[in-house]
Amino acid sequence: MESTAAPRPAPDVGDTLVDWFAGAARDLPWRRPGVDAWAVLVSEVMLQQTPVARVEPVWREWVALWPAPAALAAASPAEVIRAWGKLGYPRRALRLRETAAALVERHGGTVPADVAALEALPGVGTYTARAVACFGHGTPQPVVDTNVRRVVARLVHGRAEAGTARASDLRDVAALAPADPGRAVRFSVAVMELGALVCVAGTPRCTACPVTGACAWVRAGRPPHEGPPRRVQRFAGTDRQVRGRLLDVLRAADGPVEAARLEEAWDDAAQRSRCLDSLLVDGLLEQLPDGRFTLPA
Ligand code: SF4
Repeated sequence: MESTAAPRPAPDVGDTLVDWFAGAARDLPWRRPGVDAWAVLVSEVMLQQTPVARVEPVWREWVALWPAPAALAAASPAEVIRAWGKLGYPRRALRLRETAAALVERHGGTVPADVAALEALPGVGTYTARAVACFGHGTPQPVVDTNVRRVVARLVHGRAEAGTARASDLRDVAALAPADPGRAVRFSVAVMELGALVCVAGTPRCTACPVTGACAWVRAGRPPHEGPPRRVQRFAGTDRQVRGRLLDVLRAADGPVEAARLEEAWDDAAQRSRCLDSLLVDGLLEQLPDGRFTLPA
């Protein structure tokens, strides 16, 4: 009978990636020695759907302003929304403040190393919990983001694209990790780096890949993706852009602004109104009794 088990790459793939990472890793500030689990948590939330270059200056500002959960928990919503700047998806700023408050309440202002305790925090999902346990506390964990799923799909399963998330993704990554705990931690960041720099979306750079000899997709002759094409997210003209423009007006103002100021931010009245409503619902803006708008106190 034909086996349905996924072909396994060579057992030294994990170690090879750790050694490659030692020479190829980007020097990112949240990876440096001495960066604590709180600063790692802030970086992981900021890096969701946001490029490193945009995150770096904002992360530096946040960890300087709020070096511990208690400091962020004591900040006002307006302060955190302002400090979020133009990172996008600004609800993350408010969620991080909620996370900080929960850390103060449940963990005495410290960041736990236990994945279940981390997952129980508001705004912390499986990926972030494992990343904080692994990169913030040095506890070996399979850490699976979009880049890692793409690497696993190609390297282990011989598929061009990852498709939707699978329950087996964590197992697949854990199976590749070296046995040594310290190397297993570095492996988790190494495989993410491979997906970010080499095994990239679109056309992977297989000639520069340290594990090309073990790659199931290369061995299979690089079969094309068979599922629906990847959606390319546009930004121009979306509600996300409009919400950003409206928030920009409030961030730049010294105090509450008249509705007329917001009208200048976007021409389409229906879209502007819809986005204004959604910002109010999300708690990112408030409307005063006199009709003016302000960041939440
Ligand atoms: S050989 Fe190519 S497809 Fe395979 S893991 Fe490396 S970069 Fe990705």
